[in-house]
Amino acid sequence: MAERGLTLMAVHAHPDDEATSTGGVLARYAAEGITTVLVTCTDGRCGDGPGGVKPGEPGHDPAAVVAMRQEELEASCAALKVSHLETLGYADSGMMGWPNNDMPGAFWTTPVVEAADRLAELIRRYRPDVVVTYDENGFYGHPDHIQAHRITMAAVAMTDIPAKVYWTTIPHTAFAEFGRVMKELGVEWAEPDAGDAPGPQLGLPDDEITTWVDTSSYGVQKFDALAAHASQTENIFFLRMGRDRFVELMGRETFVRVRDTTGAALPEDDLFAGLR
Ligand SMILES: [Zn+2]
Repeated sequence: MAERGLTLMAVHAHPDDEATSTGGVLARYAAEGITTVLVTCTDGRCGDGPGGVKPGEPGHDPAAVVAMRQEELEASCAALKVSHLETLGYADSGMMGWPNNDMPGAFWTTPVVEAADRLAELIRRYRPDVVVTYDENGFYGHPDHIQAHRITMAAVAMTDIPAKVYWTTIPHTAFAEFGRVMKELGVEWAEPDAGDAPGPQLGLPDDEITTWVDTSSYGVQKFDALAAHASQTENIFFLRMGRDRFVELMGRETFVRVRDTTGAALPEDDLFAGLR
């Protein structure tokens, strides 16, 4: 019997999240011969429509948005050389407080155990050594990101399969660096205020980040994956940096390790430290 290789599974909320927060690691580990599995939980129907039409505006046709974003997702996976794309097909819940939160089939109102059961089935099939998802705030408070976190942690507990589990995060110093570049480029950029904002604080102090992965050699692939999702305004924002600047600024992805059975020492520079 052939020896089973290593497998990375990333669980994301919408088409395009795989590129923004894990495009570098997906590309890097695929290049290293690791099987990569992307699970995208929702259909992204609350995104911008063809021609930039916003949800709720006349002419925003959810079915057309879903079809367009599925194509974009497949192009992004091709750029990142993702081995297996799995979509759970839940309806995008929109931002917190939108009526879509409670619409039939919305991811946000799907019972955690129901969606976690489906994810657990995928975890049993692919047997990932490493699973990556968001923190309990979904990084920035989007209901679908919070739900992706919840079902992932529930599915990990049900299966007990992955040796390591990570949440994506950004070091506080990177926000400052990012803000400087944005100002240089003349882009209006409000640095997230750690002090008085009532929402979750974004990212982590640098010394709380456990895992720093160099993805600088894969910045072009990450840029191309993001470019595949150019229908979404927030991605155009990144693309305006231009490829060279983007690669320079986005050459590292950072994580916090929340489960580990390998005993790999921290901080580490490899999601698979202790496994190879
Ligand atoms: Zn998202």
